[in-house]
Amino acid sequence: MKLEHLPQEFELARPVLQTIEQAGYEAYFVGGSVRDTILGKAIHDVDIATSAYPKEIKGLFKRTVDTGIEHGTVMILDHGTGYETTTFRSESTYTDFRRPDQVTFVRSLAEDLKRRDFTINALAMRENGEVIDLFDGLTDLQQKRIRAVGNAQERFHEDALRMMRAVRFASQLDFTIVPDTLAAITDHAQLLAKIAVERTQVELLKLLTGKTPQRGVTDMLATGLWQYCPDFAPHETAIRDLAQRLTHGVSSDIAAWTLLTTAFGLDTPAITTFMKHWKTANQAINAVQTANKTATLLGQGDLSDWQLYQCGRQLIATANEVAVILGAPDRRASLTERLAALPIRNKKELAVTGKDLMQAGIQPGPQLGAILGDLEYRVVTGSVANDRAALVAQATTE
Ligand code: ATP
Ligand code: MG
Repeated sequence: MKLEHLPQEFELARPVLQTIEQAGYEAYFVGGSVRDTILGKAIHDVDIATSAYPKEIKGLFKRTVDTGIEHGTVMILDHGTGYETTTFRSESTYTDFRRPDQVTFVRSLAEDLKRRDFTINALAMRENGEVIDLFDGLTDLQQKRIRAVGNAQERFHEDALRMMRAVRFASQLDFTIVPDTLAAITDHAQLLAKIAVERTQVELLKLLTGKTPQRGVTDMLATGLWQYCPDFAPHETAIRDLAQRLTHGVSSDIAAWTLLTTAFGLDTPAITTFMKHWKTANQAINAVQTANKTATLLGQGDLSDWQLYQCGRQLIATANEVAVILGAPDRRASLTERLAALPIRNKKELAVTGKDLMQAGIQPGPQLGAILGDLEYRVVTGSVANDRAALVAQATTE
């Protein structure tokens, strides 16, 4: 197969491949960008595989960055774009079910493609658009199938993260994992527990934000992978229910966490524990706690103005999105409209400050904070106008 019209990203990268080839080495486009181009999807980063060793690559280009030189990866900087360029490798011994103990550079493309995870990810493309397909990846792409390269049992035993990658590609691409590969995932599911949770997290989020998470979640249930995700084990019923409901992906990572924690019925402290086990960023925890609270309320009925205000503009769409997935009516338009119509949208818009209140004779300290909080509530709920004099009067008459 030869692609006649390459996307702009590849056109721009062609001179890079040509430079490597003119020096007597082989160089190919590989990985997700080749797969996604054949699928007619937009591509983001263009990866290159080459027979040249890292130091040889560095000798050929003016500007390179050692992004992962011990794995053979050098980034070539060209016209302001970075190209991850990795020397052909064969990965031999794995003792811990995660990363190979050693990376062996080889000069053969076939060796390199053999160590890749799925046939659809093991395609290579020359700079002229010619596709090299040693494992029938093109047929699998056409038939929408995910199939391990080589012996599936061995491949998941070598690297257990590949199992999560399989279910996330099923979701992102709306593909079916072939029976043999699915069976091998079932056999090795418990090895997922050996994988660094940060890496599992990346795949889980890609799955939930993918095109058909229903597929990915169903595959996780069928293979048992779900049991080896942190804190999933007590929530089988909720996960089975989600597998039915997730007919399309959630719009963000925050929405994904909000969905899981709301479906699992976690309260605020339980969300902290859950997200810490998943090693998420701390600021994500706060956002999820807020969105979760609001989504839970939306599951029970409409929000009061105060509840709406507390959720805030940034998270109201997320909370509504999650509530809708879990069966609530879609109130997005009315919530957004009501939020915009509130007297204030956040504390900063309150017409009075702590300083104003101190000038009016109120002592600093926790009480001052409580008074400000009360004024905020009164303004939001409409019992006092957002007017400095009115607010000071309200504060000093109590
Ligand atoms: P995405 O579009 O999400 O970037 P991708 O297929 O490019 O998808 P990457 O994680 O960027 O995924 O990996 C690039 C390529 O490296 C893959 O297409 C695959 O060939 C190979 N690869 C990545 N991770 C593994 C793995 N764990 N085992 C074997 N091959 C892998
Ligand atoms: Mg990629």
